[in-house]
Amino acid sequence: MLDRTPAPYRVFTDRDVVDHLGDLPRIRGILGGAKGEWRVRDVADGNLNAVFLVDGPQGGVCVKQALPYVRVAGESWPLDVNRATYEAAYTRRLAPHVKGLAPEVHHYDPEQFVIVMEKLEPHIILRRGLIAGERFPKAPEHVAEYVAQAAFRTSDLAVPFERKAADVALFAQNLALQRITVDLVFTDPYVEVWRNKVTAPLAAWAAALRADVGLKSAVAHFRLRYLTSAQSLLHGDLHSGSVMATPDDTRVIDGEFALVGPTGFDVGNFLAHYVMAWYAKPFHAGAHGAITAYRDAIADDIARFWLTFRRRFLEIWRDEDASGDGLPPSHFADPAGRARLETFRQAYVEAIFRDAVGYLAIKTIRRIVGYAQIADFLTIGDEERRAEAQAGALALARALLKRPENFPDIAAIVDALAYFEGAGLDPKRAPA
Ligand code: ADP
Ligand code: MG
Repeated sequence: MLDRTPAPYRVFTDRDVVDHLGDLPRIRGILGGAKGEWRVRDVADGNLNAVFLVDGPQGGVCVKQALPYVRVAGESWPLDVNRATYEAAYTRRLAPHVKGLAPEVHHYDPEQFVIVMEKLEPHIILRRGLIAGERFPKAPEHVAEYVAQAAFRTSDLAVPFERKAADVALFAQNLALQRITVDLVFTDPYVEVWRNKVTAPLAAWAAALRADVGLKSAVAHFRLRYLTSAQSLLHGDLHSGSVMATPDDTRVIDGEFALVGPTGFDVGNFLAHYVMAWYAKPFHAGAHGAITAYRDAIADDIARFWLTFRRRFLEIWRDEDASGDGLPPSHFADPAGRARLETFRQAYVEAIFRDAVGYLAIKTIRRIVGYAQIADFLTIGDEERRAEAQAGALALARALLKRPENFPDIAAIVDALAYFEGAGLDPKRAPA
């Protein structure tokens, strides 16, 4: 047979998926049987990409292809397919440190921009579980472990600066998706632009945020940190829609927004989505008593996620013979030095918390008055009621940005949830 030259990029059909996997001996081994026995399901429900699950007589895989446009928007919004290259590289970079907390990447095809990875089943998207009122009690600890490992192992605390520079150089090229973050997260919510999808009853809130120079100054601070702080390798889009879970098992997926940035960005993003789930919950179907208990459980998830992250990050650092260029242990070897090192560790984690509080607020705002709305709120069919749920979250976010000193620790944030609930549709009368 003649050598085959690589086919030009094409958007995969079910048939292309089967042919592609048929060319990969390792995947044939996972699926078993013959190509004709493989069943393909299109399960894309994210915003950007095509995703298929493929089952053979022996096992299954997940196939994700970057489309040359934003899937939910259509071909009128083009998007660089190279994002798949960064997602594959990100997942592989972290794999040694987050075993069992992310799907294994089996294969990456840089011509078709296709990732073949471990199929997660019966896992469901955490966001869907939260809306349905299902409990995933281990998810906060598992995601905290994931973020702590990524935050430490890819930082200057753990690696020589040359290794860090390689990550910076690679992921700094993930430009198309960083542009989405800069525009949709940091810019659009504070100006009037066609992409914003603010619901009518929240018009006064959206106008108040646009007019609030103090708030926009706080946003500017965190926006600049996103652009300039090269602290650790980030997922870049770590919300409840990027986590798949069963009650016992938790996996972080979808690292296509990866970049080297401030650690608190991932931490705050994940917190924001639990916070929004808390505000949305009373408007979802369910018995009143059950909703109160479920909300308490979400509040507990918020606290456990941060506290586990904090504890694990410090443990990893203390246990590790840290060999990064950021902080040479030989400078702190005597008892006075060791004590000082511990003070330094506490300050480092405290700074991550301060960043996380800011990004929690910014991520909340962008999901309510920006383009990419979330199902937690969209499933509240009545616009007025949806806006009421969202106003509480906006009031909290505004306070987090403008009065960060009122929120010295995670307990203060959890306590504030109920305080800002019922803030109402008039931002001037809402608690500040
Ligand atoms: P997008 O980048 O478009 O948001 P995601 O990576 O979030 O795509 O995947 C879209 C959907 O595909 C997920 O919501 C989930 O339902 C499904 N999915 C993604 N990865 C896997 C996997 N490894 N196993 C099973 N289902 C998956
Ligand atoms: Mg995605």
